[in-house]
Amino acid sequence: MTRIWHIRIQAKRKETMNSKGHVHEERNQKAKGSQLEARAVGLKVICPICKAQLANQNQLVDHYGSKHPKEKPPSNSE
Ligand SMILES: [Zn+2]
Repeated sequence: MTRIWHIRIQAKRKETMNSKGHVHEERNQKAKGSQLEARAVGLKVICPICKAQLANQNQLVDHYGSKHPKEKPPSNSE
């Protein structure tokens, strides 16, 4: 009984220890949802005075009536 010992020559292991820490980048979204919501709903009219986003001209007129009663809403009769 001859045992043949296989000698494993262990080559130099390149143990690449990934020392890269998992960097969690949490993005602080500015004005979260304001722009996206506006797009989602389809707001097209923006108040030139306070930059409020409104759905349509009627909303703008109503907005003027409540927020800017002294101002005249831009006419958009087309
Ligand atoms: Zn306004």
